[in-house]
Amino acid sequence: MRIGIDLGGTKTEGVVLDGSGDTILRRRRMTPVSDGYDAIVDSVVDIVFGLESELGRRCRVGIGTPGAISARTGGLKNSNTVCLNGKPIKQDLERRLGREIRVENDANCFTLSEAIDGAARRFAVVFGTIMGTGVGGGIVCNKTLHAGPQHIAGEWGHNVLIPNGRSCYCGKQGCVETYLSGAGLVHDWPADSPITAQQLIAKADAGDHRAQQLVNGFLRHFGQALAMVINILDPDAVVLGGGLSNIDHLYTTGAKHVQRHVFNDELRTTFLRNQHGDSSGVRGAAQLWPAE
Ligand SMILES: [Zn+2]
Repeated sequence: MRIGIDLGGTKTEGVVLDGSGDTILRRRRMTPVSDGYDAIVDSVVDIVFGLESELGRRCRVGIGTPGAISARTGGLKNSNTVCLNGKPIKQDLERRLGREIRVENDANCFTLSEAIDGAARRFAVVFGTIMGTGVGGGIVCNKTLHAGPQHIAGEWGHNVLIPNGRSCYCGKQGCVETYLSGAGLVHDWPADSPITAQQLIAKADAGDHRAQQLVNGFLRHFGQALAMVINILDPDAVVLGGGLSNIDHLYTTGAKHVQRHVFNDELRTTFLRNQHGDSSGVRGAAQLWPAE
């Protein structure tokens, strides 16, 4: 039995997967972000011990979270739950839980889950991306995660798409994330009538001209940015997750834009909608350990 924990900036979810990958227990609670690092560690420990006492046995534990463990310091880096940055969360949880755990980036967990038993299960080389609050990515080859020595494999969100373009929190300008995230999609919508990405997508579907223009620009940027990934990795499949993966045109017009920019006269890459939805991350965290 394996426990997966999806430690997000808003909620923390835990599941137990049985040997065949079915979810047999699930717990969810708010991440106590305002109470700080120690409270977040306590909360994860509570969820693990709670699941185990209900199950009546000890499990392997995998954790998926934004950011990555720094190979240099052992602390978490690049997390949007900023109170976790620089903190040795892996060591602290291992000490509290009394066992070795695995911690991975949430987009890597998403990709692993979809490649192992989700939408991309029939494909050998899979590029997965979460387009939502930010833009993350992961690479899985033959059902094995390729994280890389610096834990940045697949992080296309901070490739520069537009030189001197929009400012990114990472300190660079024109990053893919500033165009293909939710905030990127609504960036040029009139500031006096705030709108969410999902509302803008609905408006475009209903025929609103300005919303359609922004979605079309989004699809062009998607094609340009993803073609750079495909030119390097040439994956068999690309699986899309996050709130913006609901844009139906990504799988048709978006793919055509990719084809326009890729270094080939055709595009054989398969574009897939994720299968496990919001559960991909927590399932992939459990799948950081092999099934028993
Ligand atoms: Zn950036």
